[in-house]
Amino acid sequence: MSEPLFREAVIDLDAITHNTRVLRSRIPTQHFMAVVKADAYGHGALECARAALAGGADWLGLADLGEAVALRSAGVAAPMLAWLHAPDADFAPAIEAGIDIGVSSRAQLEQVAEAHARSGAQRPARVQLKLETGLSRNGLAPSDWFGAFAEARVLEIDGIIAVTGVFSHVSNASAEDDAAALALFREGLEAAHTARLSPEVVHLAASAAALREPDTRFNLVRVGIAIYGLSPFADESGAELGLRPAMTLRGRLAAVRRVPTGKGVSYDYTYRTAQETTLALVPLGYAEGIPRHASSKAPVWIGGEVFRISGRVAMDQFVVDVGDAEVAVGDEVVLFGDAEAGYPTVDDWASECETINYEIVTRLGGRIVRTYVGGEGTASHGL
Ligand SMILES: *Cc1c(COP(=O)(O)O)cnc(C)c1O
Repeated sequence: MSEPLFREAVIDLDAITHNTRVLRSRIPTQHFMAVVKADAYGHGALECARAALAGGADWLGLADLGEAVALRSAGVAAPMLAWLHAPDADFAPAIEAGIDIGVSSRAQLEQVAEAHARSGAQRPARVQLKLETGLSRNGLAPSDWFGAFAEARVLEIDGIIAVTGVFSHVSNASAEDDAAALALFREGLEAAHTARLSPEVVHLAASAAALREPDTRFNLVRVGIAIYGLSPFADESGAELGLRPAMTLRGRLAAVRRVPTGKGVSYDYTYRTAQETTLALVPLGYAEGIPRHASSKAPVWIGGEVFRISGRVAMDQFVVDVGDAEVAVGDEVVLFGDAEAGYPTVDDWASECETINYEIVTRLGGRIVRTYVGGEGTASHGL
């Protein structure tokens, strides 16, 4: 890797392509949806979408329609599904862009029909019906299935919509809970079939279920976290799954000072030096999405050694007690990256902060500049 910027998230697009290939070969479904919502879990939606498509993904999944329309406008032609909408969402741009709209209520079905009429689109609006099977989030409740499916079929016959998919989502709470969701989902598929709907794609599994519960795969899986090289499991790492972490979070030391024993460090002096030592200042703070819960806990690589944050994470910075290590202003500091290179991992950070790897990468922002390696070239911009 090149010289680090002051605050930088380096995204290895070849890792995303590799991970997608590995997952595609382990999960033998007809279709593979790369989930690139929330700006690809903080990795950059457009670049990651292209890298995942290069690795064999043939669908893209997003929560937000605006993110899907932006990818389409940037020239991404792959089929896309977006599933979480504002109450007053205007579906017309998505219909015109040929984006599949996840529909979770009869009200939304009617909004899509209304938007289709308004848009003057020649083709029917592509709709995937989301069924509630246990998570208690969005989705058509079982009591609505009969009516909603009948209504969808009428709109389909009238050329207003095409029901391209039926899907749901599992909780990963336990094998039993997922089996219950699966059984209910199968009832929903039966009901859709009875209503003469014939979706091209049927899907239930995200990364965890796709990898461990073959019954949930149907003909498409929606894989997010794993394409970024991170594991959805507590008991099996990304490396054990054959994946490579795509993100390295790093920066350069902003200051270094030698201090005596008993010196207070950062706000509230929750850390005091135990002997004469060297303190290094890292210019990333909670404004960048570094969790304050990482204070005095999370590991940090400097000059080939792994240390721990010393004291409070502040808005812009935190301090690391590096003992007698020879460090200088401008030296590279790596918060997390590939364990193969000796760096702490996203999982190390997640466990120290009592959260999950998903949150650690997705919450990053502020003044971090994202740069890309691999893929078709390199580019850089703020998060
Ligand atoms: C985020 C999300 C996914 C992807 O989940 P991962 O665990 O990251 O694979 C799949 N489906 C839905 C509905 C989601 O919201």
